[in-house]
Amino acid sequence: MDDTLLSSDHLAWREVVRDFVAREISREYVRACDVAREYPYEAYDKIVRAGWLGMLVPEAFGGAGFDLLAYLLMLWELGRFGVDFGTVFAIPAFCVMNIVRHGTPEQQDRYLRAFLEGRVRFSISITEPEAGSDVAAVSTQAVLDGEEYVINGNKLYASAAHVKDNVICMLVRTGPVGGRHHGLSLMLVPNDVPGLTMDRLPTVARRATGTNQLYLQDVRVPVGNVIGVAGDGWRLIMEHLELERISVATLYAANAQQAVDDAAAFARERIQFGKAISSFQVIKHTLAQMQTEVDAAAALVQRAATRMAAGRPAVKEVSMAKLFASETLYKVAGEGMQILGGAAQLPDMDMERYWREGKQAMVGAGSSQIHRSIIAKEMGL
Ligand SMILES: Cc1cc2nc3c(=O)[nH]c(=O)nc-3n(C[C@H](O)[C@H](O)[C@H](O)COP(=O)(O)OP(=O)(O)OC[C@H]3O[C@@H](n4cnc5c(N)ncnc54)[C@H](O)[C@@H]3O)c2cc1C
Repeated sequence: MDDTLLSSDHLAWREVVRDFVAREISREYVRACDVAREYPYEAYDKIVRAGWLGMLVPEAFGGAGFDLLAYLLMLWELGRFGVDFGTVFAIPAFCVMNIVRHGTPEQQDRYLRAFLEGRVRFSISITEPEAGSDVAAVSTQAVLDGEEYVINGNKLYASAAHVKDNVICMLVRTGPVGGRHHGLSLMLVPNDVPGLTMDRLPTVARRATGTNQLYLQDVRVPVGNVIGVAGDGWRLIMEHLELERISVATLYAANAQQAVDDAAAFARERIQFGKAISSFQVIKHTLAQMQTEVDAAAALVQRAATRMAAGRPAVKEVSMAKLFASETLYKVAGEGMQILGGAAQLPDMDMERYWREGKQAMVGAGSSQIHRSIIAKEMGL
């Protein structure tokens, strides 16, 4: 992000996180989690101990109560060496805000302290086999039975749903099937509840966080697990998605910057025809173009975040940031692979992982086509 637009407090905070990532986490650890498809429990615990999980959670609930920009600067540093790794911290952070903003006092009491202390994690499950881009097609049904809801259906690509102590923030239908935007509810479903089973999916990207297909058969959760009012799920999920999209857009831009840095460092060191390949004009121009596009992505992220922080409408700006940052990551990581030549094929150069995650970035949290449609609608088209 543009340093000249950041306060001295924000700049100092970014240095603290950057230093922490270098000392306590390291890019080698991030890479190893991807290769082994292992959730980074150790790093998560370190973030809990640092007190950074609750960056956005108000102080009244025991959180740090930092502003949106400070939270995004933290994500930038955590996502620098891998979007997937940063996602491990982004998903619970934006999920828990549903409880902060709309939860009952009982839910806030039960979950917020436990979350900040690392005893409970959160994930989000909206997508279903027949409800991808068309979120309003969600058909997993929750039927009221006394003081409980009985849930039946399938969910798809529920990232981190399998990790220990996870509570899934699930979009379900409490109204009639086919009711589109009406009759949807956001419900808290612990991942160890009877009747819930899941399969981990062998995806191209998001290998450390992991993503799952969920099967719900007569799963019972108390009425008190509905966030906000039953039937208000569409409004809540739209608010949730804005924070989710600016969070992931930040991770994409951060990782894209790292792709440029890695490619430039390689080009300076790789000697062919008796000179560094960075001395060839075609390589210089490619790197210059890559850096220009990453700066543009970061500027879009910063603009959208600034509008959100100011409480101004930011639907168009958030979609532009998400769209451009995801496509930039995929593009610059692809160019980075070309600059690395054969070396790019190996996981220890990281570039193939950035590229894989760039491809996923263009689909998750709303595909590129969907974001272009949102932008066009906001333009009155
Ligand atoms: C690794 C991974 C992790 C994920 N994690 C989560 C998660 O934690 N929680 C969660 O709820 N979801 C998650 N998702 C789901 C993700 O949000 C969806 O994949 C995404 O919304 C697209 O849905 P779909 O895959 O069903 O594609 P579809 O909606 O079937 O789209 C297929 C293609 O058609 C295009 N298309 C669809 N509709 C239109 C249209 N109206 N106009 C133009 N083009 C259109 C799409 O852009 C896409 O190119 C994850 C996905 C992946 C791959």
